[in-house]
Amino acid sequence: MSRRLIAALAAACLLMPAPAAAARRDAPVTPRQLMRHIEMLASDGFEGRAPATEGERRTIAYISDQLRRRGVGPGAAGASWYQPVDLIERRPLSHEARWSAGGRALAFDSERITLVGTQPVQRIDDAPVVFAGHGLVDPVRGVDQLAGADLRGAVALILVEAPDVPGFPSYADRERAVARAGAAAVIGIVADDVSWDAVVRAAAASDTVLASRPPVSGAIQAGEVARLVARAGGDFASLLNEQSGPAFRAVPLNLTAGFEIATEVRRYTSNNVVGRIAGTGGGGESVLLLGHWDHLGLCRPEGEADRICNGAVDNASGIALLIEIAGRLVRRRPVRDVIILATTSEEVGLLGAEHFAVEPTVPLSSIVAAVNFDTVAIHGRGEPVAVIGRGLEPLDRAIAETAAALGRRMDTTYAADAFIRRQDGWALTRAGVPAVMVGGSFANMDALQDFLSGAYHGPDDEAGPDIPLDGAAEDGDLMVALVRRLADPARYRPPPR
Ligand SMILES: [Zn+2]
Repeated sequence: MSRRLIAALAAACLLMPAPAAAARRDAPVTPRQLMRHIEMLASDGFEGRAPATEGERRTIAYISDQLRRRGVGPGAAGASWYQPVDLIERRPLSHEARWSAGGRALAFDSERITLVGTQPVQRIDDAPVVFAGHGLVDPVRGVDQLAGADLRGAVALILVEAPDVPGFPSYADRERAVARAGAAAVIGIVADDVSWDAVVRAAAASDTVLASRPPVSGAIQAGEVARLVARAGGDFASLLNEQSGPAFRAVPLNLTAGFEIATEVRRYTSNNVVGRIAGTGGGGESVLLLGHWDHLGLCRPEGEADRICNGAVDNASGIALLIEIAGRLVRRRPVRDVIILATTSEEVGLLGAEHFAVEPTVPLSSIVAAVNFDTVAIHGRGEPVAVIGRGLEPLDRAIAETAAALGRRMDTTYAADAFIRRQDGWALTRAGVPAVMVGGSFANMDALQDFLSGAYHGPDDEAGPDIPLDGAAEDGDLMVALVRRLADPARYRPPPR
């Protein structure tokens, strides 16, 4: 064979698509595939997917079954698909608070504190009172405001308002840290310029919380604390001046507290569904894909024609996308693991995602990125790609380059970030995991507002031909390509954290 012929053959080979490359392409996600899942999850038989109902049982069985059929393995403890999430729905009924200093009772109006428990009746007698600054425990920054303090059985007072420091833990996280140290009650100190009426009104409403919250929580104004401390011979203002520094340590106040609290309590357990696609690399790192499975259940009073909030767009659509993306990833496993998390109780405050952040199935530090899928069926093909949670490098660049490779334009505004606290990714962002939501749904604000002021959270969010799935399918292809990149250590290296 002549050299020229060899050269010509080599050139021809370069022009022909290699068979391997064809096999390496992922099958496009189709609207039909998504609709099948949405029709099932949003059918009346699933009763609107309320946590701890027959609707939950059907929903989590469907998701785990669909993942299993596609070759995804279980990802929760004990090789289970389900991570139990213990929850409390509660409403404060009444409370009484007494304070004393050196055995002397101090006059106090119980209306000047809010208290709510986790049991129907709770009593705290003569508990030492500790001022714990912000309740800040941050091993990464080497800060532990609780170090050296004995908080067991104590009533801990912590500042609600956080300094404007990026990554400063949320109040819920700080409250949890203080409770973990053994406090019987964690009371948030609110600034005097916050309307006390508004605090009382907010506290009177029923809410749903993780059962891992402190046994008793509440709120009190700073001025009220200052008066109590002064009558015990102390000076709260000087303590406040020390509180912001990392060197601040929790200090016992010369006070004891007694509380009696009655709370209406309903305890129940729901479940996150956790799947795992084992990567080929075994490096212990993973990409987390999540979306909430729960919705509002029976949301209209008896007697109304349609009582079920089916949650087709919110968020059967996101779960449909999760299932289809997972199936494609399994066919050609990425190097890093991929965790698939279908969360419960997003609708009552991102609680399933918060539980995962508190009790992760893998160390949070090993998750290189998290991508949330919520309300993804709003738009048609060709929308720009919006990112909720922009501003994280090299994640931004990975998203932009993947979108460009698929011929998608980026939405370079920050309009989508208006929703950052209203989606499960926020629970992970708060815990230090780089988390984003990516796609066309949050680029077309007119279409999104139409949905939010229309079918959203009502019985009309139902499966049907009106739901646009072209855009969701197009986003699905983008997400498969993006996750392949994020799950490849040669193509995506997260910054150390
Ligand atoms: Zn919702």
